[in-house]
Amino acid sequence: MLTIKAFTFNAFQENTYVIYNEHATAIIIDPGCYEVSEQQVLLDFIETNKLEVKRMLFTHAHIDHVLGAAFIEKKFGLKMEMHELELSVWRAIPSYASNYGFVYQAAEEPDSFLSIQDTIQLGTDILTIIFTPGHSPGSISFYCEAQQFIIAGDVLFFKSIGRTDLAGGNYDTLIQSIKTNLFTLPADTKVYAGHGITTSIGQERTHNPFLQ
Ligand SMILES: [Zn+2]
Repeated sequence: MLTIKAFTFNAFQENTYVIYNEHATAIIIDPGCYEVSEQQVLLDFIETNKLEVKRMLFTHAHIDHVLGAAFIEKKFGLKMEMHELELSVWRAIPSYASNYGFVYQAAEEPDSFLSIQDTIQLGTDILTIIFTPGHSPGSISFYCEAQQFIIAGDVLFFKSIGRTDLAGGNYDTLIQSIKTNLFTLPADTKVYAGHGITTSIGQERTHNPFLQ
């Protein structure tokens, strides 16, 4: 049984997720902690719950989702894992980080990549990977069928969708990703988004103004 803990970090109000099982085995998705105080909040939670963090995964590689990667890498000896198509997105960060006022410290370049054939296993619990490009070219979502939730990054938000005006973004691709790969999931599936509150597939299928 997986437990999901959400944190909201950095100037972009990005949601970072720690997912862990009853044996305190954990993964971190999209560590966006930037300030030392944010890093401490994340670390305190991990230490208080005696979690063993096994992997550092990314829905995509925009700056607000990776600001804490170097910190997690150093703290837990973990390398970043993302879809291969996000590599160029990640490599572009130093070219724009200062425009947003960030002093960016890069983690090591990833050397193994996630694809839709992979599953993320925590003990007996499984997350599958769903390809959801459009907001960025290699956006992926992490889906737990057994518990009906999905970590969807910046693809689908409560009554909104991810922006598509950044490099590699494509509006039609995004809409197609949502309709084909997300809206076909059960209505009760909880959607943990990269920004804002948690929603559900059913709620967005019915009420999301971008998808009617
Ligand atoms: Zn993004």
